[in-house]
Amino acid sequence: MDQSHIRNFCIIAHIDHGKSTLADRLLELTGTVQMRDMKAQHLDKMDLEREKGITIKLAPVRMSYRAHEERSAENGERRAAAHLAPNSQLRTPQVEYELNLIDTPGHVDFSYEVSRSLEACEGAILVVDASQGIQAQTLANVYLAIDAELTIIPVLNKIDLPAADVNRVSAEIVSLLGCKPEDILHISAKTGQGVEAVLEAVVERVPSPQGLTYKENKDRQPLRALIFDSYYDDYRGVVLYVRVVDGQLYDGLPIRMMSSDKQALPLYVGILKPDMQPMSHLGAGEIGYVITNLKSTHDARVGDTITYVAEKLAATQALPGYKEVKPFVYAGFFPDSNENYQLLKDAIEKLSLSDSALQYTTENSPVLGFGVRIGFLGLLHMDIVRERLEREYNLELVVTNPSTDYEVTLLNGEELDIQSAVDLPDPARIAEIREPWIKGEVVVPKEYVGAVIQLISSKRGLQKNLSYVDAQLAIVTFEAPLANLLTDFYDQLKSVTSGYGSFNYELDNYRAEDLIKLDFYIAGDRVDALSVMVHRSESPHLGREIVEKLKEVIPRQNFQVALQAAIGGKFIAREDISAYRKDVTSGLYGGDVSRKKKVLAKQKKGKARLKRFGKVDIPAEAFTVMLKRD
Ligand code: GDP
Ligand code: MG
Repeated sequence: MDQSHIRNFCIIAHIDHGKSTLADRLLELTGTVQMRDMKAQHLDKMDLEREKGITIKLAPVRMSYRAHEERSAENGERRAAAHLAPNSQLRTPQVEYELNLIDTPGHVDFSYEVSRSLEACEGAILVVDASQGIQAQTLANVYLAIDAELTIIPVLNKIDLPAADVNRVSAEIVSLLGCKPEDILHISAKTGQGVEAVLEAVVERVPSPQGLTYKENKDRQPLRALIFDSYYDDYRGVVLYVRVVDGQLYDGLPIRMMSSDKQALPLYVGILKPDMQPMSHLGAGEIGYVITNLKSTHDARVGDTITYVAEKLAATQALPGYKEVKPFVYAGFFPDSNENYQLLKDAIEKLSLSDSALQYTTENSPVLGFGVRIGFLGLLHMDIVRERLEREYNLELVVTNPSTDYEVTLLNGEELDIQSAVDLPDPARIAEIREPWIKGEVVVPKEYVGAVIQLISSKRGLQKNLSYVDAQLAIVTFEAPLANLLTDFYDQLKSVTSGYGSFNYELDNYRAEDLIKLDFYIAGDRVDALSVMVHRSESPHLGREIVEKLKEVIPRQNFQVALQAAIGGKFIAREDISAYRKDVTSGLYGGDVSRKKKVLAKQKKGKARLKRFGKVDIPAEAFTVMLKRD
């Protein structure tokens, strides 16, 4: 396809502003998906996405759209003129455009994938919910789109809602983008109102790709294609989503990933409509898929550049922007019994084939037995992996409190990266401990700024800047230790801002702090799986809070149980669980046998998730009390 008739664009927005719904309408309008096959949020294919109503996996799709062209009066060049009135004299026969749309996951955990998807496009539709206005991920996405030098088409969505405030939100967009009010399209992705104008704007405003093709480059035909997503499929192997920047990508010719230097054979190439449709090749400017003979996505990572192995067809310079994403949130995953350990390991191994960001090491805890410690890109990523393990592999898991990793310099100069408080060496050998800090941004109506700044400083955060989108809406930028945002920051932000505050962050760097390991003892024995890293100033408070939480979740035993927090063997907090010996069914009056049976069955089921430690039964929830902080 001639590049001048290609438009590559993505849809970006804060979560829930209507990206997937707009994508649905575009698929319908272009006849890519028939109405009768249409389900809401069509591109959200995973069960989990449909249940949570969020987009986890990005999804490229190709649509055909017929628009008009006109010849420019000055130089005779043809250009898209989708806006022409039906009876215009300038109308020429309709021309078919090939539109490649990428619906991106809105969540911060996947911001690198989003940045690569943006890099695969020339334009971005920025969707803003007219009842919500600009929120934190709106800003983050706009910055990414500006970095990728994309043409941004601002779209005000949900104008059908009574709460839509078109004037206020338009003013916010104008102030953010520096565009004109008339550049903003007003639509309802739900009813379809105004959506056709979005397609017209894509054709008219988004530039066509300008890759090197055979025509311009006769003697050499170097291939450069950007990998912007990949997954592993049991039947097909590793599938890559690519944007061909220069040259042509054919199946059957060996390719090389320029950053990892791994080679592969493309078995099939094609486009997504949204189902796979094989093609003879993908040309410059096109977006499509490549089915490879690779067995793991680790060999073809997002952001890498594909070229041919053959010297005559090989590019010399990779596309810019490759980086290896590194996990920075860790948690221990343990099966309900040691027999299921191998199952868990196999399942993780399998998942990591299609999720190159996933990393794991094996772990052995006296209480929880054999398990794995997995590294994630954030809490949503962790939730997704956990749910997939439980659903797709039928595993019952005990998951420990998530933590960040820590860089440790020993007095002898040795450097360690520890992913669990248990691995912290003897403090007497440690010169310095560094923890990850983030740069964050809260977008909030100005009356909540004070509360937000207070919340940030309660998390050891430092407020950096305060600016305003307009008279009403403020942006608070700050830096903070990631560990303190992992548990309940988001919930607290929502509560102190009556739901209006939104938050986005990126990893900044590792900073040396006065960090220590806080241990917990149950009935006199240290339970290593409960240990956490904490700033010294926060340890008394956190120690108290956790023993109180443990007291709520650990059932009474037939003897008194002490719950204690300690630093280096010195106790700093204590709660006792008093002895208990009552038959749970004794409270039910006599005759009702079936009720009694039910209670006993329920009690037995609960037991399966209890971990016996010394003399005490500890329920699985005890290991995630940090996530339930208030
Ligand atoms: P995404 O997270 O940006 O992909 O957002 P979704 O497309 O999943 O939409 C989030 C919610 O907003 C869903 O419940 C949609 O039905 C709803 N929604 C999307 N567009 C509109 C609209 O134009 N009007 C109304 N009233 N609701 C909409
Ligand atoms: Mg979505």
